[in-house]
Amino acid sequence: MQAATNIQNQTLTHAFHALKCKECGAEYELEAKNVCELCFGPLEVKYDYSNLRKTITRKTIEAGPNSIWRYQKFLPVTSENPIDVGTGMTPLVRSHRLARRLGLKKIIYKKMMLLICPPSASKIGWYQSL
Ligand SMILES: [Zn+2]
Repeated sequence: MQAATNIQNQTLTHAFHALKCKECGAEYELEAKNVCELCFGPLEVKYDYSNLRKTITRKTIEAGPNSIWRYQKFLPVTSENPIDVGTGMTPLVRSHRLARRLGLKKIIYKKMMLLICPPSASKIGWYQSL
C-alpha cells in the first residue's frame, strides 16, 4: 500500500468555479454542500469545459500521483495540501477459476478492498477505495 504522500507541489488550476443543482439549475459557491437549498436536488460540480480543454490533457493526468489525486483538478477540493493515502487506482483482476466455475469465458472484476497493515499498526483493517 502506498504511504501517505503530500502532493502540495502541484499547481492548482481548477476547471470549475461553482456547484450547480441538477434539478433546478441553481448555482452555489464551492463549499461542502451536496443538496440544493431550493429544491433538495443533488449538486454537481459545474465545470468550465473550455478551460479544461486548454489545461488538462491525458499526459497531465498520467503525470500525477498514482492515486485519486491525479484527478485533483476535477475534484471540488480547494486545499492545496490534501493528504494522499493511496485512494483510487484499485486494480482490475481477471479471475480464471471463477470464470470456469460459472461457465463463463472471462470474468474481470475491480478489486475494491485493499488490506492495509502499516508497520506501526497494532490491528489489521480493511480499507475501501473508490
Ligand atoms: Zn435545485
